[in-house]
Amino acid sequence: MEKFSIKDVGVKVGLEIHQQLATNKKLFCNCTPIESEDYDIKFQRKLRASKSELGEFDPAALFESTKSKTIMYYANHESSCLVEQDEEPPHELDDDARKIALTIAAALKSNIFSEIYPMRKTVIDGSNTTGFQRTMLISINLFGRRCSKNFRRRREC
Ligand SMILES: [Zn+2]
Repeated sequence: MEKFSIKDVGVKVGLEIHQQLATNKKLFCNCTPIESEDYDIKFQRKLRASKSELGEFDPAALFESTKSKTIMYYANHESSCLVEQDEEPPHELDDDARKIALTIAAALKSNIFSEIYPMRKTVIDGSNTTGFQRTMLISINLFGRRCSKNFRRRREC
């Protein structure tokens, strides 16, 4: 049997945790995050793949665009506004959410960046109204560890 070596394979491992935070408003607007079965807003979107900031198309987005789906969205005006409909730019990042994320990053002893910028990840499966997911990288190097001395650039751990 051939000997297996992680170094030879070049495996990269990342950890992405999704958790709804207990804040009083949504991340990019002042809407209250409440659940409701009463929908007084209805709109539709036909999402298309677009190039990333690097000038490339995401293969998963290109595949999804071949389905040419029209997606209907239903919302309640008490918990949804023009920001969620992508008819208005996002507002300032929610301060409570930022504090919670920074607290978690500090508890994990990671290296927190001095500035936080939203990035866009193309997602056109209909799970969001804009065709992209906003994400922010706030820290790297979990537990203060560098991933590997072989990596010259900083990597997420
Ligand atoms: Zn809103």
